[in-house]
Amino acid sequence: MSTLHHDISHNPENIPFFESVNMNFDKAAALLEYPKGLLDQIRACNSVYYMQFPVRIQGEVQVIQAWRSEHSQHKLPCKGGIRFSDMVNQDEVMALSALMTYKCAVVNVPFGGGKGGIKINPKNYSVEDLERITRRYTVELIHKNFIGPAVDVPAPDYGSGAREMAWIADTYTAFNGREIDAIACVTGKPIPQGGVRGRTEATGRGLFFGVRETVNDVELMKQIGLEPGLQNKRIIVQGFGNVGYHSALFLAEHGCIITGIIEWDGAVVNPNGLDIPALKKHYDATGSIKGFEGASFIEDGNSVLEYECDILAPCALEAQINLGNAGRIKAKIIAEGANGPVTAAAEPILLQKGILIIPDMFLNAGGVVVSYFEWLKNLSHVRFGRMDKRFDERGNHNLVSMVEKLTGHSLSAEERSMLTRGADEEDLVNSGLEDTMISSYHEIMNIWRTKKNVHDMRVAAFISAIDKIAVSYYQLGIFP
Ligand code: NAD
Repeated sequence: MSTLHHDISHNPENIPFFESVNMNFDKAAALLEYPKGLLDQIRACNSVYYMQFPVRIQGEVQVIQAWRSEHSQHKLPCKGGIRFSDMVNQDEVMALSALMTYKCAVVNVPFGGGKGGIKINPKNYSVEDLERITRRYTVELIHKNFIGPAVDVPAPDYGSGAREMAWIADTYTAFNGREIDAIACVTGKPIPQGGVRGRTEATGRGLFFGVRETVNDVELMKQIGLEPGLQNKRIIVQGFGNVGYHSALFLAEHGCIITGIIEWDGAVVNPNGLDIPALKKHYDATGSIKGFEGASFIEDGNSVLEYECDILAPCALEAQINLGNAGRIKAKIIAEGANGPVTAAAEPILLQKGILIIPDMFLNAGGVVVSYFEWLKNLSHVRFGRMDKRFDERGNHNLVSMVEKLTGHSLSAEERSMLTRGADEEDLVNSGLEDTMISSYHEIMNIWRTKKNVHDMRVAAFISAIDKIAVSYYQLGIFP
């Protein structure tokens, strides 16, 4: 097995993940003037619930271990995914919940940070087993008040998806049937169960918007010696799951050349570019990227992290770029799709080499941004666009007809439909996501460019987060 999750025994630096997050926090905190007590409170992990519960699996009772961590309740609800993996541990869940706190602040989503983990390998269980485990986990959360639309709202993460979120929503509503907003207890649900269109691809789409904004930054590209623009950027992606696949797809659709995809069982490479939709078809049919025609297969997948490229996008797991390989990374930009893919110890080596790291807490925030939209949709009990789509279309039609009359020029049916179309839910979700990623990018860059002693984008992103969280604490009146 590869270095799945943050298993300390596999981590060449031997630094626990939560400590690694805090090392980055401390670099930013050292540049700020806040009282020590306030900074200590922001970085501390407030509540961690460890649970064990019995579940009957194929006639035998198994004791399952699980966690839910609420790093910060400075804004409520807490928000963060649930990981299903046999490598989950308390340190990892705490670290990931801390990253959620900072991520929400960076992209102006009014939530505290949370994260959950169930210590199982989902591949070893039937769908019925997984349903029993997920429902029982939800009941534990309900009993200890670690779930609810105003308290803590989970979402999918590594090893879980819309199906698990539907089970959670159903269990929660069964216990809280008279709560009018019950369905907002979890996000990432299937559309018929209260999900929002655009959530599944949101993290990859957000990564695409973030990378596009970065490579269009002429000054920054000059600094790292890259031509501005997405066109013909050569990209290697690690992970072909939700984040990796969608990131590769959107980047390829906008002129990038995906030269390598790395999975746990090897990598496929093609210097002329991989056909991402065809690779996805092959992956879905066979369960692997192995055997894909039109590419060379590399057994030692992780060696491809060290190949020449413009952008390396690690979108699988944490600690993938570490002291063991940092010195050999040749990419000009590392686009962090996964949470914590670069270790704190490896980062200085990469920065020294002039590599630009676009940090996770900004770049992979698309999922939580669209989760926020789903939560808003659930609270408002109405689909985005339902009230105004037709109204806007009618107005646009009137305008176009007026222009046609005044100019004497008639539009084709296709042109008319393009100009008059009203926005539906997916248009609005994608537009909100795009706006969020663009404005957050400029907030971070403004800090990087104007604040003294800020030397990289991660420190700038941490400062952006800490500033906003500090304001919340001052508003709560806890700190004078
Ligand atoms: P996923 O389970 O859909 O996909 C992960 C992929 O990585 C799988 O295809 C898996 O086979 C592959 N993989 C596992 N070990 C690997 C290895 N050693 N080398 C290469 N590939 C390997 O998970 P996901 O939702 O895409 O999440 C990936 C990362 O992105 C995680 O760090 C997660 O916390 C983070 N993230 C996810 C979201 C989201 O909305 N899903 C949002 C923010 C951050």
